[in-house]
Amino acid sequence: MKNIFLSLVIVISISFSYQPVAQTNSEVDIVYNLDVTNHQDDLFHVTVSVSGLSQENNVYNFASTTPGTYSIMDFGRFVKSFNAFDEEGNELSTERLSTNRWEINHAENLSKLVYDVEDTFDAEYTEHKVFPMAGTGIEEDFIVLNTFGVFGYFEGLQSNPSRVKLDYNPEWTVGTALLPDEEGYYQAESFDHLADSPFLIGELSVASTKVNDMDVVVYVYSADTTIDAAGILVAADEILQAAGEYIGYSPVTHYKFLFCLTDMETFQRNNFNAAGALEHSYSSLYVQPGRGGISQGIRNEMAHEFMHILTPLNLHSNIIQPFNFIVPTASEHIWLYEGVTEWNSDILQLRGGLISIEEYLEIISEKLTFNDRFDEKISLSQISLEAYNLSGLNEFINFYTRGAVTAAMLDIKLLDLSNGTRGLREVFIELLDKYGKDNPFPEDEFFEVVVEMTYPEIEQFINDYIKGTETLPYIEYMEKLGYKYVAEVPSEDTRPTMGFSLGHNESGELMTLIVSDKAKEYGVQEGDVLVKVLGQDINMNTFRTIRQEVLAMNVGDTCQVVFKRNEEEIELTLTLQQRMDKHIFEEMDELTEEQKLLRSVWQKNL
Ligand SMILES: [Zn+2]
Repeated sequence: MKNIFLSLVIVISISFSYQPVAQTNSEVDIVYNLDVTNHQDDLFHVTVSVSGLSQENNVYNFASTTPGTYSIMDFGRFVKSFNAFDEEGNELSTERLSTNRWEINHAENLSKLVYDVEDTFDAEYTEHKVFPMAGTGIEEDFIVLNTFGVFGYFEGLQSNPSRVKLDYNPEWTVGTALLPDEEGYYQAESFDHLADSPFLIGELSVASTKVNDMDVVVYVYSADTTIDAAGILVAADEILQAAGEYIGYSPVTHYKFLFCLTDMETFQRNNFNAAGALEHSYSSLYVQPGRGGISQGIRNEMAHEFMHILTPLNLHSNIIQPFNFIVPTASEHIWLYEGVTEWNSDILQLRGGLISIEEYLEIISEKLTFNDRFDEKISLSQISLEAYNLSGLNEFINFYTRGAVTAAMLDIKLLDLSNGTRGLREVFIELLDKYGKDNPFPEDEFFEVVVEMTYPEIEQFINDYIKGTETLPYIEYMEKLGYKYVAEVPSEDTRPTMGFSLGHNESGELMTLIVSDKAKEYGVQEGDVLVKVLGQDINMNTFRTIRQEVLAMNVGDTCQVVFKRNEEEIELTLTLQQRMDKHIFEEMDELTEEQKLLRSVWQKNL
């Protein structure tokens, strides 16, 4: 997953005691029929036709969580009606056991489940907000269908194959990695496979190509007509070429990019708490506002989601295999799943010639700068283990910042220890050979495995920077490559700044995120809600115009600002400041032979 951070999300932790048993029963036939022909009623109408169930399959489960999201979603909350019928059409009684589980009496006679599910995009609820890229949406011209948000599985039959039939506007296009049979039924090998295969349906543009021996199709819904599938395909092609060189082979034979780029109105109307993308084995789904053109940000996201094929989809802990959809189960190794993936997606672009060294160094600087707003005293291991509760989720962005820089440092450490012969890429590929989709690594012994495969010094690195909270050694390690560290320099951007960045909270109010020391001196605190600037009410609608007014002022000018803090309004006079770039890496004047060697191996795939 990759989240474009827009606001803080509040969750509470829930504990469960249920343990799933994944089995298959070849006597059972399961067909999901989904009717989304009428977008106006805003409901997914589901009919599950089934035969051959036995008494032990008498519970129908909706997902509480799903792979790659590390959050509680409880899709049972969105179920609006639930009825069971036998072959003669007689209703069988059902009982709701918990948020996500329905028991069916006389399941051996069950012929049909009929139920309606509300989409998560505009459902009214406050707790455990579902990320849009992990949710479901019914809009006038597109439908986002994360299958796990609508379909469930029968107890004991998580591994059973199933088929899906869609009824939808025939003028629309369907994008999904699932393949239909001759009668138009999409085929899933198991519930895990179904859950791993989202659909994007609507007025889509489509473009395809072949990269090495991989068939690639891009499906795009875009409110902004300057972005279409052909444009995204050009970027995808370059990224996939570079990823292929980096990995050394094509990890899959086919891959689909599903892009849902909404306008800001849709985004605000649905009160989305975040935006971004979610990875799958043969596809990735992007739900975010289209921001005009195909930015480097979109390229980075595509690289990130594609590289997830390697981890966690193929390299993962035995604690998440088989996946437990009912009881959210934390693994300590999100530093690998998200941190190493983020580093992979940046460094493969450097090594593939898609970005320059200067651009790569800027990425590291940006990550360190963004990371300044997080609590340094919580380790990556701890955030992993607490991902499903409050502190874990709030700190989750750490994996894309500190987690990625940790991987970058581990790479330099490994290259240094091996005299430039084996970095993190090489160790990572060896791990992929050693393990695989159905051969997970042992959760508790994985760090020992990595140390054993590499050097005793790596144990200290893990203890300090993954299990521990020592400040990352980027000054020392980047010097090994011939780059010197500068804490901050005046930015080339001469437009003034008020000294804080903004996000929005759950109520859609603008809230300060990172506050500079100078702005703190004027009285600004992190989490203050911005109410007025220059005497004008500021909100999502007026933000752009007011921002332009402030940017047109000069460094040293004063600016009246009103904040809300604990329901109290506070008026402050801020002096506009010079922008500063932080955590800069600059070329050293003269490099030693060791630095030259290390830099030359660092910037290529060995
Ligand atoms: Zn991710």
